[in-house]
Amino acid sequence: MEQRANRLFLVIPCYNEEAVLKETAQQLLKKYQALQHNGTISPDSKICFVNDGSKDQTWEIIRSLHLENSTYTGLSLTRNRGHQNALLAGLLTVMDQADIVISMDADLQDDIQTIDTMLAAYQEGNEIVYGVRSSRRTDTFFKRFSAESFYRLLQLMGVEIIYNHADFRLMSKKALKGLSQFEETNLFLRGMIPLIGYKSTSVAYERHERFAGKSKYPLAKMISFAFDGITSLSIRPIRMISNLGIIISIISLLFLVWSIFTHYFGYTVDGWTSLLASIWLVGGLEMLSLGVIGEYIGKIYNETKRRPRYIIEEYLD
Ligand code: UDP
Ligand code: MG
Repeated sequence: MEQRANRLFLVIPCYNEEAVLKETAQQLLKKYQALQHNGTISPDSKICFVNDGSKDQTWEIIRSLHLENSTYTGLSLTRNRGHQNALLAGLLTVMDQADIVISMDADLQDDIQTIDTMLAAYQEGNEIVYGVRSSRRTDTFFKRFSAESFYRLLQLMGVEIIYNHADFRLMSKKALKGLSQFEETNLFLRGMIPLIGYKSTSVAYERHERFAGKSKYPLAKMISFAFDGITSLSIRPIRMISNLGIIISIISLLFLVWSIFTHYFGYTVDGWTSLLASIWLVGGLEMLSLGVIGEYIGKIYNETKRRPRYIIEEYLD
């Protein structure tokens, strides 16, 4: 089979990653040298770190890495915009120079050796290669439980998503051009990428533990990320609210018929407890429904403003 063009760019979003950056950079460079040596990737391939408005020495470290070795490049955003926006900034910035881009985390939780299998899948003609975790042994019970419920919930809501795939993936230039046509402000990349299409496949990898530093995804951020994922890609929750409304209306109608009937036969009871309870129940459901609808209106509001998703302060080319 004909060899496809192979200038590889790694894109690595970094937020306050001074504890891991040097080690990560070193290990990746070693991998690059091996891949360049056997001709799998071209000599002008790069490793691009995206500084997502870090408050520590992250950007200084990226700069000094770049001075040390031109395989390292970097990109700095004007402020913290979150993992998804930082990743998109990196992908779209290197898109024109790269033939292949692999995105991964700065903490080496994504297995470096899997790059080989991803590149092989690309050579077989795949435009997108998803890294999928083979197990969650290294996760705490809580993380595993919450993550797996998250994927189930998304699937239930009709979001097309690859099970146990996060943001460790290979994309070809063609696939990236596709991604660049998505203009939404509310980013949930792992839900958007399958919408691009093209031939794609998954490769399994063993996810490691973060080797230093702390997770930048505490519980609150995780929940809001899950919520964003659903509301950015599916309108099923709104439909569920309508269905709930219909069901409640039918039940109350039957209830009404029944109460007229019993009244007619003179069995009236002073059931104010059940009355009060149902008022509170309906009130609660109404508020919840309004909240969900409000969430969508908020999303529409943000989209209509068409604000930039990120602003690049500096690019070390
Ligand atoms: N990250 C980022 N901006 C943020 C939060 C995180 O660029 O606002 C990066 C972070 O530096 C890391 C990746 O996103 O490279 C994943 O974050 P982390 O490892 O903390 O998440 P976890 O693996 O615990 O889910
Ligand atoms: Mg991590």
